Amino acid sequence: MIFIMLGAPGTGKGTVASILSEKMNIPQVSTGDIFRKHIKEKTELGILADKYISKGQLVPDEVTVNLVKSRLEEPDAQNGVILDGFPRTVKQAEELEKVLKEKQTKLDMVINLVTPEDEIIERIENRRICPDCKAVYNVKLSPPIHEGICDKCGHELIKRKDDNIETIKSRLQTYFEQTSPLIDFYNKKGNLRTEEVSKKINRFGKDIAEDIVKEFLK
Ligand code: AMP
Repeated sequence: MIFIMLGAPGTGKGTVASILSEKMNIPQVSTGDIFRKHIKEKTELGILADKYISKGQLVPDEVTVNLVKSRLEEPDAQNGVILDGFPRTVKQAEELEKVLKEKQTKLDMVINLVTPEDEIIERIENRRICPDCKAVYNVKLSPPIHEGICDKCGHELIKRKDDNIETIKSRLQTYFEQTSPLIDFYNKKGNLRTEEVSKKINRFGKDIAEDIVKEFLK
């Protein structure tokens, strides 16, 4: 099973991916999380990725594609994955197609999350993450039980370095220029599912994930 999470930063891709991963028993592969781990460990890849991530730009395609290719070779990925934040360019999507073809695996669904821009900025500003178990919180909409502490593992929550207003703006611009063409790319292939995430309609990542799980596991 292969699922792709598409959408601008802050739309809730990680939330949907982590619920799908748990319920469908396949790993969530978040390229952002993998890069952040490398940055923390100051690996060569981490030092390179940080130069782009801190400016709200994309890490070069070749580096990112190779990273995902080797992740897909790992034993736990053999029954499928939820790709969270990959692909982010048409080139990455084309490379992924080649890999899936080689593996004779089909793409089940591309979940495209759409959120009004003012809400995106608010959601990112209020986002806190657990650097340990990767749980995601929103200090207004879904706060942890104890302020600043992860409900799941008790680790102290942090605000991502790139979750600041300046970087958010360039991340959004990067999304519109380089990632949004993927909506058309996957729409043409017929497996795109677009979902609105917005407080205006009281629909969040959790609701979307639950609907998809119900449909897939019925
Ligand atoms: P995310 O956690 O998905 O918001 O990703 C954080 C940052 O990592 C992005 O703003 C990019 O700089 C980088 N990144 C994550 N996934 C990719 C990708 N597929 N291609 C290039 N850069 C990526």
